[in-house]
Amino acid sequence: MTDRASERDFLLPARLRVAIDGPAGAGKSTVARGLAKRLGYVLLDTGALYRTVALAARRAGITWDDEPAVGALAQTLANEAAISVEASESAPVSLMPPSRDSAVSTAIGGSGMRVLLRGDDVSTAIRAPEMSLGASRVSAIPAVRAALLDMQRRAGLEGGVVLEGRDIGTVVLPDAEAKFFLTASAAIRARRRMEELAARGTTMAFEAVLHEVESRDRADTERPVAPLKQASDAILVDSSDRPVAEIIEEMALVVEARARVR
Ligand code: C5P
Repeated sequence: MTDRASERDFLLPARLRVAIDGPAGAGKSTVARGLAKRLGYVLLDTGALYRTVALAARRAGITWDDEPAVGALAQTLANEAAISVEASESAPVSLMPPSRDSAVSTAIGGSGMRVLLRGDDVSTAIRAPEMSLGASRVSAIPAVRAALLDMQRRAGLEGGVVLEGRDIGTVVLPDAEAKFFLTASAAIRARRRMEELAARGTTMAFEAVLHEVESRDRADTERPVAPLKQASDAILVDSSDRPVAEIIEEMALVVEARARVR
């Protein structure tokens, strides 16, 4: 290491890997986006990858419970780097294996994510309520999880990232320097989800959303591979009755404190 490099490393806080896990509607996306922005970190919403596999299966005429076919499809999508994500304000990011001269994962900004499937913008299509169910179904297939694992780990290689999902702290980045498990009561999560859907033009009754949220949680928690679970070293954050800004600030302070001692 040159003197200049060591001096720089000494002066700059380390750029950590931050894992945020939790059930549907706990506020992960909002908090992860705000935290990434606050820290100047890159954001990856990993649920979008599972949603994209569900959508790709639907478009290919494959039913979500056809495990071998969905698994093979996910592997093909991974091999062909057919799924890419980009921030609304920055250059596309490749989830391909790093080539000798390209840095991966530096461009997913903290301002929302566009998802491309073979170049086609599917950001809106993957948010349909049906794709929530599809994502939950395909995510229980071990071959799908295996296919998406490398992509997610690659995004974390360089640090300075916030990965948001269900198994980030337990499976994807078990050695992440900061882990949070975000939760809220089922009723509050359903209400938030209902508002999120309404903002996108989909009206659903509260009971129906509550049922969707609870059954998705059950499936995510009870599946044998990479179930939704709080990592033993994750900080539990209950977002039920707290302003988002306060939660983001609390988490940012934890990350910054850990970055300073490195
Ligand atoms: O977070 P989001 O609601 O977009 O995730 C959709 C579904 O994708 C979840 O219900 C879960 O089944 C799956 N998922 C997962 N592991 C992740 C992220 C999402 O199994 N890391």
